[in-house]
Amino acid sequence: MADDANLSFVFHRGLLSKPDCEGCPLKGERIIAPEGNPHAILALVGEAPGYMEAQQGRLFVGPSGVFLDKILARAEVSRAELWLTNAVLCKPKTVTIGAKILNPDQVLRMAADHCRGRLIDELRIVKPKAIVGLGSQAVRSVYAPTASLKGRRGGIHSISLDQISGDLKTDDGHE
Ligand code: SF4
Repeated sequence: MADDANLSFVFHRGLLSKPDCEGCPLKGERIIAPEGNPHAILALVGEAPGYMEAQQGRLFVGPSGVFLDKILARAEVSRAELWLTNAVLCKPKTVTIGAKILNPDQVLRMAADHCRGRLIDELRIVKPKAIVGLGSQAVRSVYAPTASLKGRRGGIHSISLDQISGDLKTDDGHE
C-alpha cells in the first residue's frame, strides 16, 4: 500500500496513536506511516524516512529498502508478513530554532523523543514476538532514550512491551 492512503489505513485500524507532534522540530512535515501485517511476529524499526521514503510516502524504499528486500528474499520472507515502522515518522532536516541551527542528526534525536510514545503504543498493539532495531536511534527508541547501546549491537535481548515506560528496564539486567 502506497502513499498517504496507508496513513489513513493505519489510523483507521487504530494502529497509529497520535504522535506528540506539538513541539517536535519536524511538526508539519509529511508523516510516512508504518505498514505491514498488524499481526506480525517480527517488527522492523528503522530510524527515520530518507529522501526516497519522503518522496514516495513509503518506508524502506531507498537504498536501505533495496538491501532489506534482498535479505528478505534470501530468507523467503515477504514484507507483508512483517510490521515496518520507524523511530521517527518524518524525514529529519536542518531546522533553525531561535538562534540555533540544528543539523538533521540533532533533529532526529529531538524528534525521536516526541515520536517515541507513538512507537511504543504501536508495538504494544501489534505485539510482535521480536523487534529488530535498525540503527542506534531505533534501538534507543525501543529501549529508552538514554539507553546505553554497549553490548546490545547485534545481540538478542528479552523485553516485555507491557513494561516499557520512559525508562524501560529489560529483563536481561540492562537499563
Ligand atoms: S517525527 Fe513524529 S512527533 Fe515529530 S512531527 Fe513527525 S510524526 Fe510528529
